[in-house]
Amino acid sequence: MGTKESVDAIVIGAGVIGLAIARRLALDGREVVVLEAAAGIGTETSSRNSEVIHAGIYYAKDSLMARLCVRGRQQLYAYLHERALPHANCGKLIVATSAAEAGQLERIRARAWANGVDDLYPIDARLARDLEAELRCTAALMSPSTGTFDSHAYMTSLQGDAEAAGALFAFRAPVTGGRATGKAIEIEVGGADPATLAATLVVNSAGLDATRLASRIEGLSREHVPTPYYAKGNYFSLAGRAPFSRLIYPVPVPGGLGTHYTIDLGGQARFGPDVEWVDDRNYDVDPRRADAFYASIRRWWPGLEDGALAPAYSGIRPKIVPPGAPPQDFRIDGPAVHGVRGLVNLFGMESPGLTASLAIADVVGKIASGVRPVR
Ligand SMILES: Cc1cc2nc3c(=O)[nH]c(=O)nc-3n(C[C@H](O)[C@H](O)[C@H](O)COP(=O)(O)OP(=O)(O)OC[C@H]3O[C@@H](n4cnc5c(N)ncnc54)[C@H](O)[C@@H]3O)c2cc1C
Repeated sequence: MGTKESVDAIVIGAGVIGLAIARRLALDGREVVVLEAAAGIGTETSSRNSEVIHAGIYYAKDSLMARLCVRGRQQLYAYLHERALPHANCGKLIVATSAAEAGQLERIRARAWANGVDDLYPIDARLARDLEAELRCTAALMSPSTGTFDSHAYMTSLQGDAEAAGALFAFRAPVTGGRATGKAIEIEVGGADPATLAATLVVNSAGLDATRLASRIEGLSREHVPTPYYAKGNYFSLAGRAPFSRLIYPVPVPGGLGTHYTIDLGGQARFGPDVEWVDDRNYDVDPRRADAFYASIRRWWPGLEDGALAPAYSGIRPKIVPPGAPPQDFRIDGPAVHGVRGLVNLFGMESPGLTASLAIADVVGKIASGVRPVR
């Protein structure tokens, strides 16, 4: 990359969302350059998650999360099917272990219905046990459209689509800041090959760093940059045979969906993520957190044996609301929100960001269609 070049569109960050956006823009005929600080695609939150294709159950009615999860899930299944990428529409059970939790199941079902997820159905404790012999619960909800997939194969495919449509990827290219000039946005790229790039359109899809990056763009008023909070989610893997064939979720907890059971396409069972509010970006999993895992999992799987859990990995949710606040929504802030021509900031892209990635890209594509080069 030379210095002071001009390009049409820059996407900052090659996580799943940046990749889906780069693909969308390139397919729409835009000249796209993706700037990624790391040496490859998807090394941050996009490879530190549950790889679940969410149905769209829990989110507030009419929120971006609700709408883009439902639409994105349909698009994702179609894409994975068409490209023959590894995935499994295995279904999930949301389980109650008390009368109070059973009441919550009804509310979850009503919310899902309001979001257009109309395939959930209640099952009683006996049927749940017939389906999953080791499961103990007082009632459950079945979500047939939930699944899992190989998110790395998916991201590689998105990159391939984007490149085939002409997008260029620059790795080890950390963006350090920028300025809005009115006609264009100038972006400063650091690393071994520093450069200044001027672009008509800049999409800030930097995940956990999106807020910090936005605060370094001159011309963007600080009132449009939320305060970041980090909610780490730790996972523990299960030694030995996977006990269930479907995903098992307890009722949600504040900050997350509850410590759930997932099984990857290779048959490895794991539990998590929990919710640990942190100040720094340390991905170590503290083995002492296993105690809380054993206690919560045994409420619905009493057969969990001592010593069966091992620390696996963690991911960090890019929160834009503090602990205890009402749940956040995705923020896709274009010029209509902040007034800076050509800039799109994505904030708070936590779960269900993987599931919703193609639908998120369509929203950004629509905003981008209103931002063309000034001649
Ligand atoms: C614990 C956990 C579990 C989850 N489970 C699920 C799930 O099961 N299903 C689901 O649908 N969603 C899930 N999610 C959400 C999903 O993982 C995220 O929404 C998604 O991965 C976010 O993608 P992204 O591209 O925004 O961010 P990231 O993957 O973090 O990508 C951002 C990229 O930007 C780069 N970058 C940062 N700063 C700069 C800079 N200055 N210059 C250049 N590049 C930069 C980073 O290196 C990184 O590659 C989960 C999230 C967490 C934390």
